[in-house]
Amino acid sequence: MTELSGLQIFKYLPAAKKAEHTNCKMCGCPTCMAFALKLAKHNIDIEKCPYVPDELKKICEQNAKEPQKTVDINGLKIGGENVLYRHEKTFINKTAIAVVIDLSKPHWKEKYEQVKNFEITRVNEHLKIDLIITKNGSLPDCITYEDLKKLPLKEIVDEEFSKTADELIETRKKAILEKDEKFSNPVYVYFKHTDDFNLLCAKASFYICKYANMLVFEDFDPYLITTLMTLRQNIFTDPQKPLQVEPKIYEFNNPDENSLIFMTTNFALTFFAVASELESLPVPSYLVVTPAEGMSVLTAWSAEKFTAQTAAKALKKFDLANKVKNRKIIIPGLLAHMKDELQEEIKDFEIVVGTVDAFAIGDFVKNLKIRHSSRPNQG
Ligand code: SF4
Repeated sequence: MTELSGLQIFKYLPAAKKAEHTNCKMCGCPTCMAFALKLAKHNIDIEKCPYVPDELKKICEQNAKEPQKTVDINGLKIGGENVLYRHEKTFINKTAIAVVIDLSKPHWKEKYEQVKNFEITRVNEHLKIDLIITKNGSLPDCITYEDLKKLPLKEIVDEEFSKTADELIETRKKAILEKDEKFSNPVYVYFKHTDDFNLLCAKASFYICKYANMLVFEDFDPYLITTLMTLRQNIFTDPQKPLQVEPKIYEFNNPDENSLIFMTTNFALTFFAVASELESLPVPSYLVVTPAEGMSVLTAWSAEKFTAQTAAKALKKFDLANKVKNRKIIIPGLLAHMKDELQEEIKDFEIVVGTVDAFAIGDFVKNLKIRHSSRPNQG
């Protein structure tokens, strides 16, 4: 059930029905419409109007219910979602990733150390296993499987993909759309041991998208977990708050005044993709990151957050022309159509169109080197 707008609420009030008590001000508002607008924004108690019909009270009561509970497991929050799709608002708590350690198994200590120490860094985020669950015993920083089962969570043991997927989708829809309390517990999918890691990865990826609040694995495979964490990071980014990095000039491998100069926007995913390529180049370089409200190159261009003027302004602000002798700037291949426009605005540098994809930067630079000997961009 979706929230009512002020107009929808107004239809239930005396003024809309031209009934007795129209605009009587007993609620403290000058009109019924003012009350309706306030109520829609949850800025007034519904009880302030003694003439609200039971039907409206019931709808508001239903709307006030939490669609999905938030469960706290040793500080890890799961659930609490209130939309079906990220673009409607945002997702609240990312799908947690948990691994089971069976203390009755001979090599549990080794597995435990591996799981505990697993860490990857992606887009400036340090990602670790969210929860360790023990079976046949307990460990200080873990939760036992028995205790997990006592929490208000729904467990789906994954056996058949379509069955699990249907159950996850059905549960989330009932929770969000109908606010049905029977479906308000966060859901975790339990994966038993398997040798088919490709299938496991495919299924787990789907369940991150729709709609597991936590994935629990008996197996621990760092490659699988890395893949899932990468996907999860993309799904759970708040669309209203793009991940951004600070607009400035970044340096790679101790550049000097003759080093290569690249340019991109301050969208974090783009930045880290380009940065990791520049780090691995055999030559030093600069990366000029322009302010674009955290938008990727093409999005920023279409939203006019990356224009020839903003690029020129950034270069001026960073005082690049006085810092380097190199007079060539390599722009992303996706902005090839802007080359002339940029050139017109950026008089101090020659605009060179680079690659569409970050991974192709290495080859691009190799070709530059062939054409321009060891100092490719020397001005
Ligand atoms: Fe309208 Fe009810 Fe407020 Fe009177 S108390 S003005 S009827 S909303």
